[in-house]
Amino acid sequence: MAILAEFAPLLPWPGDGRRITALLALHTMSTTLDIVRIPVLSDNYVWLMREPQSGAVGVVDPAVAGPILAEAEKRRWKITHILNTHHHGDHVGGNLEIKKATGCTIVGPRQDRARIPGIDVEVDDGDRYRFGEAEAEIFFVPGHTSGHIAYAFREQKALFCGDTLFALGCGRMFEGTPQQFWTSLSRLRALPDDMRVYCAHEYTQSNARFAVTVERDNRKLIERSAAIDAARAKGEATVPSLLGEEKATNPFLRADVPAVQAAVGMAGGDPVAVFAEVRQRKDTFR
Ligand code: ZN
Ligand code: FE
Repeated sequence: MAILAEFAPLLPWPGDGRRITALLALHTMSTTLDIVRIPVLSDNYVWLMREPQSGAVGVVDPAVAGPILAEAEKRRWKITHILNTHHHGDHVGGNLEIKKATGCTIVGPRQDRARIPGIDVEVDDGDRYRFGEAEAEIFFVPGHTSGHIAYAFREQKALFCGDTLFALGCGRMFEGTPQQFWTSLSRLRALPDDMRVYCAHEYTQSNARFAVTVERDNRKLIERSAAIDAARAKGEATVPSLLGEEKATNPFLRADVPAVQAAVGMAGGDPVAVFAEVRQRKDTFR
């Protein structure tokens, strides 16, 4: 939004005493994002988003190209950007085909530049990336992979976190250590409760089945789990979720909460060790 302010100067103009009028155009960053969920493959979500003032259109983690190009075409949205969170095939598989079709700019993690097909712009922790009139703050969040990043659009309250944080879960620890992963999740947890968590998979129901075995007495978790079952029975998506509800119910964000520590027999334990234990239990949970 451009605010036009007009005022007469209070200070006398040196010399001829002319009055001047100053016009100030103050640009504030205030815009929205229209975000569309595109389910692809067995359980991936690709996010297509448009910033309406500039018309910029971004795709977060295109696993494939066809359905994304088709959805954009249907809406008459011209794809200008791809935003990648990490190098896995179900997040970058559509990069080159979409770039070839649209000439878009591919943004991805600097620490993983060799593994992001077609990367044009490398971003790293603390960077601010301008997407149209919106701005993403970059978080380096290793753990699932060694180069993983997340995009936090603070003003639009949208967090694109790939496979780092899921609704009621987190990604598998393929390339990181518990210390790295816990640090990454703790940093995302510090974001505001009303941020929406746009993760990359519909894993919520199986995550919930595991989560209730960890925190059996967490009333909010039990209620959420029931709501998830009901939504999935109707074929509804459970993503995005609110970061506030993740803080209250997601065991992987709660390794420093006494109830979770006690539940895995590690009362008063080091949160990193507790996180590692919960992660490992999930790996073998059936
Ligand atoms: Zn992944
Ligand atoms: Fe994935």
